[in-house]
Amino acid sequence: MKLIALPAFSDNYLWLWQQGKHAVVVDPGDDAPVFEALATHELTLTAILVTHHHPDHVGGVSKLHQATGAKVFWPARENVAEPEGVELEYVMHGQTLELMGQHVEVIDVPGHTAGHVAYFVPQTELGPVLFCGDTLFSGGCGRIFEGTPAQMMSSLDHLASLPITTKVCPAHEYTLSNLRFALAVEPENNDLQTYMTQCQHLREQGTPTLPAHLGTELQINPFLRARHPDVRRAVSHHAGLSATEQNDDVAVFAALREWKNNFK
Ligand SMILES: [Zn+2]
Ligand SMILES: [Zn+2]
Repeated sequence: MKLIALPAFSDNYLWLWQQGKHAVVVDPGDDAPVFEALATHELTLTAILVTHHHPDHVGGVSKLHQATGAKVFWPARENVAEPEGVELEYVMHGQTLELMGQHVEVIDVPGHTAGHVAYFVPQTELGPVLFCGDTLFSGGCGRIFEGTPAQMMSSLDHLASLPITTKVCPAHEYTLSNLRFALAVEPENNDLQTYMTQCQHLREQGTPTLPAHLGTELQINPFLRARHPDVRRAVSHHAGLSATEQNDDVAVFAALREWKNNFK
């Protein structure tokens, strides 16, 4: 098994999961980089996995489907802006797909959009692999457009409960800007400082910082650490939370997300 991050637009990655001469693509916002990779590596596209409906994740679905006949898996609760002329296979929470000889579990992760799903492959040669779209990023999480902070927090809790060896494949290279914010929240976090240095080196060489590792994210990602006393204290101070709010996990999480929205 191989994971290839195909860069697209300014900061998207279209994940190509390769198994022998077959491949699955996740969130093809553009078709051109995928066609090129399929040709270069002589791969047959067997499936297209969609995490949510935003154009930078689905823009290439129609053309790829029409050219290859690959099945398109689409979140059942994500019912807007469906591509025309494509027969969709709707996926629901708890469902297991069989793709290229692997089990793929569908996990509901609402918040960024109402019907956002993640795809979890528990047993690969690389260890467990998670395709999480715009829900979990390295050092951050997606903006809450259609859901609530409570939903986003519970979605991230679900992802955080996966095995710590999980390789995390988000759809954007937002790591450095996320880590700048994370350091504003937790300036004393040594793991975070070390990770920032590693990621800066990778970006200087033009290398993706992804896949990330769930074990590392638990140490450095403030959105997975909203219950940590240091994060809670920093957020409470920044947002001026009342004593009641400080003890409310969702209120702290919501204030943390709001802080990031306005962070420059
Ligand atoms: Zn999105
Ligand atoms: Zn996106």
